[in-house]
Amino acid sequence: MRYYSLNRQSETVDFRTATIAGQAPDGGLYFPETIPQFPAGFVEQLPHLEPAEVAYTVLAPYVGEAIPEAELRCICAETVNFPFPLVPVANGISALELFHGPTLAFKDVGARFMSRCLGYFSRSETRPVTVLVATSGDTGGAVASGFLGVPGVEVVILYPSGRVSPVQEQQLTALGQNVTALEIRGNFDDCQRLVKQAFRDQELMQQRRFTSANSINVARWLPQQVYYCYGVAQALAQTGKPPVVAVPSGNFGNLCAGLLAHVSGLPVARFVAACNANAVVPAYLTSGRYAAQPAVATLSNAMDVGDPSNFGRILELFGNEYPSIREKLSGYSVSDNETAATIRRVHQQTGYVLDPHGAVAYFALEHYLARNPEAAGVFLETAHPVKFPDVVEAATGREVAVPAELQTLMQQPKRSVVLAPAYEELREYLTGQLQESSVTA
Ligand SMILES: *Cc1c(COP(=O)(O)O)cnc(C)c1O
Repeated sequence: MRYYSLNRQSETVDFRTATIAGQAPDGGLYFPETIPQFPAGFVEQLPHLEPAEVAYTVLAPYVGEAIPEAELRCICAETVNFPFPLVPVANGISALELFHGPTLAFKDVGARFMSRCLGYFSRSETRPVTVLVATSGDTGGAVASGFLGVPGVEVVILYPSGRVSPVQEQQLTALGQNVTALEIRGNFDDCQRLVKQAFRDQELMQQRRFTSANSINVARWLPQQVYYCYGVAQALAQTGKPPVVAVPSGNFGNLCAGLLAHVSGLPVARFVAACNANAVVPAYLTSGRYAAQPAVATLSNAMDVGDPSNFGRILELFGNEYPSIREKLSGYSVSDNETAATIRRVHQQTGYVLDPHGAVAYFALEHYLARNPEAAGVFLETAHPVKFPDVVEAATGREVAVPAELQTLMQQPKRSVVLAPAYEELREYLTGQLQESSVTA
């Protein structure tokens, strides 16, 4: 498989180069030259296939010659070694739970696949590889856990001090080994600015090989197709008809992966792009015009994105034809009040505890089903509610219990290096002049 840049200035590359580079030299996103079709009978067999087999079947055409078959099968097995249950919540609505991975977020799937691919590629690198990421919460944890213990790769994560939840902070700071957490005395924008500045620092970039583990990386984007296959197979078995799938969206990588699986042959009646107040895509679906906006802060903060980076991939997938996009995709923007009220109401009526991101998708799906009552609805539950305890506990009036798998991690000591939001400090740290890790309680 070859990948071209959506800016169409750079040369095409293979999966290895696309994964290591993240973004094309012309600044564009990589996109596969052809969309492979699932093998005949694949959808019918899905309920009987092993998860690793499904992942291998979906991903092998995209990886091509870049990774030998035995190695790729191993990577696939490690990527999807946790369940993706479809749980009925209310009449005509089921949750596809994507939070049973090590950091309780759907990003585990992309991060695990990408880290193992990079680990394989780094075996033939002479310089050590450092993964440098800024996180507002979920991304960093999934990336850290994905790369934990991968030989030849160091991970440095910048997060805003005091602005991530306790579970998220433990997932960033308590792992140890090859993962270092830099606690920045600033906000998420500061963290992102520092990382961008580091990538522009030519002198620094020559010392080691830096990579961004960014959400636009093809190795994070493509494996997300796998759980759509599971979800749809379970929905078909339960209702006999292709479901309508609502996806809580920020950068739109997740939704775009679902669309990709659909174009490859997965039966889905329609997708619903569920957004919070950051609604540029729902606005595009209504008007046909796309206008990026500054991001605004909401309760579903992993979706606070004003210019979704994967939107270009959605356009490309539909040949830039607005009518074809509208045929497959509806959009809806959900306010913070509606999000909190949905968590409260669904908990009262069904006992199910939504996280704020799942609640946005739930509400958007209800809105769609009100006009299309015969449809079978599935929404993606992208994170465990314990990662957003303030919002969820305020809405339900109950404490969210920490799942057993997390108890040990919650007891580990936190280790972070506290830095001012100034580039000189980050640079000093990265060039090894600031070795001492400070331990905070
Ligand atoms: C990242 C994230 C999203 C948004 O996913 P995109 O692929 O960026 O659209 C939704 N929910 C949660 C919990 C997330 O962490």
